[in-house]
Amino acid sequence: MLDVQAIRKDFPILHQSVHGKPLVYLDNAATTQKPRQVIQALVDYYEGYNSNVHRAVHTLGQKATAAYEESREKIANFIGAPSSQDIVYTRGTTEAINLVSYTWAEENIGPGDEIVVTEMEHHSNLVPWQRIAQAKGATLKGIPLKEDWTLDMSTLGSVITERTKLVAVTHMSNVLGTIVPVKEIVQAARRVGAKVLIDGAQAVPHMRVNVADLDCDFYAFSGHKMCGPTGIGALYVKEEVLKEMEPFHRGGEMVREVWFDRATWNDLPMRFEAGTPNIADAIALGAAVDYLQTLGMDNIRQHEIEITSYAIEAFKELEEDLDHYGPRDLQYRGGIISFYAEDVHPHDLGTFVDSYGVAIRTGHHCAMPLMRQMGLPATARASFYVYNTTEEIDILVDALKKALRYFSK
Ligand code: PLP
Repeated sequence: MLDVQAIRKDFPILHQSVHGKPLVYLDNAATTQKPRQVIQALVDYYEGYNSNVHRAVHTLGQKATAAYEESREKIANFIGAPSSQDIVYTRGTTEAINLVSYTWAEENIGPGDEIVVTEMEHHSNLVPWQRIAQAKGATLKGIPLKEDWTLDMSTLGSVITERTKLVAVTHMSNVLGTIVPVKEIVQAARRVGAKVLIDGAQAVPHMRVNVADLDCDFYAFSGHKMCGPTGIGALYVKEEVLKEMEPFHRGGEMVREVWFDRATWNDLPMRFEAGTPNIADAIALGAAVDYLQTLGMDNIRQHEIEITSYAIEAFKELEEDLDHYGPRDLQYRGGIISFYAEDVHPHDLGTFVDSYGVAIRTGHHCAMPLMRQMGLPATARASFYVYNTTEEIDILVDALKKALRYFSK
């Protein structure tokens, strides 16, 4: 069980008013708030030991390098990676997926090959594969959704074929909250020798993830969705795959030896981290991992199941005017509710509830193909995290009731 009131004390930003009302922050799928512990890690670095990493012999440089690498260890341990060498720091999920598309996919995907995604991907895990498919003469295929907003796993055998080279799937949909049975997908991909990339942007912050157990080849996620800073994330790559990959960016620190006309590459994972990295944010991401581990990932998941189940029940009061989407079985669903009211544009709904202090996201959520499939121009979305309470759900539902009444006039 989480002590939500104690947790809320760790988040300075939550204690403010918006339009004269207490802030109710329900846009956690876009980005989460940061606890003092993470903010302090940034302050400690900049006030105490700001220095470049992997270069200097001086004390501050040594301290910064140790903290930067310790953070990598924490991240590896957090997601069950066999070694911290399998973790490449990136700017976030988007950069991590692009890294794979510009390196591994460039070398390994050719004419006639197939790349399989799901029909509910974030643009981050779709547009990079469109580029590869177009450039290489490969085909992009989608695992379809069922009416209950879960993946139609019965199609795996026909969608994933001998031609499939890569299966790139989300672990949790940022629109529907659907949790994807990625382990089964990895097993199906293995049968045809395909590699698997998992977009874990919405999964790592909310549930226990173990990449070794999943046996995936690539796993990408973002720090800012898990109490960490923006501008930092990570890509896990299975060692045997990473060893064979060509570097992404070229420049300082990713090299071992440089001559005028050629160079050799540094050890893993530095080979993939050219130039001065995002040191402060990498260290603060380690502090975010510490924070989440202290709360316990199973407790976080349980809290979100409880909040989501409370919200689904509370939304029954709105069901005449408003539809919501996503699996009803909470075993297959994270803390996300997307909803749509026939008579009110989601942006109007979002602006109205903001005047009651409630922050929700409205729009296509970077998932336009899914919006088209849902037959909607956009949705409003409430997404929950460790500091959200059932009282906040009541405030949301109350503000939505007022909005629906107001716009029906
Ligand atoms: N994938 C999913 C499922 C997401 O929800 C997001 C962000 O919303 C991303 C990828 C992209 O993450 P980032 O913008 O941090 O790179």
